[in-house]
Amino acid sequence: MSESRIEKRCIEKKMKMTEQRRVIARVLSGSSDHPDVEEVYSRASEIDSRISIATVYRTVRLWEESGILDRHDFGDGRSRYEEVTDEHHDHLINLKSGAVIEFQNSAIEDLQEKIARKHGMKLVGHKLELYGVPIDNLDEK
Ligand SMILES: [Zn+2]
Repeated sequence: MSESRIEKRCIEKKMKMTEQRRVIARVLSGSSDHPDVEEVYSRASEIDSRISIATVYRTVRLWEESGILDRHDFGDGRSRYEEVTDEHHDHLINLKSGAVIEFQNSAIEDLQEKIARKHGMKLVGHKLELYGVPIDNLDEK
């Protein structure tokens, strides 16, 4: 079994890696859809049925605190997780289907810098979430 990226980062940070944590790491590294704890739990328990939801909760919280995972709330009150990556991206959420589109836009990035500077601040981070519904083509014509 090859090491997942999350597993590598845990090893770099000298965190204890149990067999169950390895499974959770693999599930998260292999997910591109921002799963919540219950989704991570259901995927992980397919691989190892001994994993409990409490273990998944504890593990994602620990990795969030360690800067290995990012937590998002896309407006439905659920915490969703994704691996922290070098490449920054923002999210556009389809409120009808729940699908999440990742995007990058340099004009938005520049504008945010300008706003911070205007208020005498240096920007060190941001979170941007856009919420939308599909355009009904018949209405738009
Ligand atoms: Zn994302």
